[in-house]
Amino acid sequence: MNVMLLSYLRCPYCRGALRKDTLDGDFGIISCACDKYPIVAGIIYLQKNDALLNKHAVRAVSRKQYGRAFWQVLSGPRVQKMVMYCVWALRCKWGISISRKNVLKLMKVLSTNKSWFDYLLHRDESIDISMATNSLSRASVRGEIIADIGCGTGSLYEHLHAVRQMRSGYIGIEKNVNSLLFARLYLEGDALWVCSDIEQGIPIVDSVIADTLFVDCFAWIYHKERTLAESKRILMRKGTVTIVNIYAQTLRTKLWGYGVSPDYLRKIMKKYFSKITFFNNDRPDRIIGLAMRCLHKERYSCQAVKE
Ligand SMILES: [Zn+2]
Repeated sequence: MNVMLLSYLRCPYCRGALRKDTLDGDFGIISCACDKYPIVAGIIYLQKNDALLNKHAVRAVSRKQYGRAFWQVLSGPRVQKMVMYCVWALRCKWGISISRKNVLKLMKVLSTNKSWFDYLLHRDESIDISMATNSLSRASVRGEIIADIGCGTGSLYEHLHAVRQMRSGYIGIEKNVNSLLFARLYLEGDALWVCSDIEQGIPIVDSVIADTLFVDCFAWIYHKERTLAESKRILMRKGTVTIVNIYAQTLRTKLWGYGVSPDYLRKIMKKYFSKITFFNNDRPDRIIGLAMRCLHKERYSCQAVKE
């Protein structure tokens, strides 16, 4: 865990600064004006819900009951939680590692949502990840900070390591804590993994990010305009936002998330950003521009700059 990057985070609820209270390896407690949050297995857990999981996990961490804190924040059906707990305990307590692929295959067998685990098993082969990587040269060269919104199991971070030296600071934000645990347990490096719901706002302070990325997740965000406004807020001047895989609302894409019409997206992009370019996913080298006449409305991507 990159502790230095903690100072770039803020509370998504009160928007106040976060303070590190305790840190013991991968477990700790941070606090803000409105609450306390746990650091569990190296993941910053910035979520509140009706089950008060953050409070239960904070209490467990303060008593050094780290296994209990880990169990508290796990999500999903009990059987999936047990798999994740066993994978973590085997690796961290006894040094026994089960490959990520085998764990995902096991989760797929146990899950009713098999297509999701199929997607995770084959995500590395997706062109979306290499498209996003190619958009990042500026941040990587200057050693600035990347915010990967909806980072899932960390495929983009893994790819950045595979194709070039990862010199930038990296903050991965994801709502699903189990996905983040895959990233934390299986990926090397010095990232900061944050569990937070983007609908509450992006838990990063103003004007510090060089590149904000949304890879395969923009369709699952309800508040699209508010999210773009938040993306602008966290970007430094001349910083870029890149959205990979955007869908219009068609009969074919209705189960792929909350689609957005190209006209509406163009309108809200223009409100917050400049130098906006659109491109089809099958021809990422061919920039379409604002006219969007040649846009494949079911699979396209977008990049823009904060002036
Ligand atoms: Zn707060």
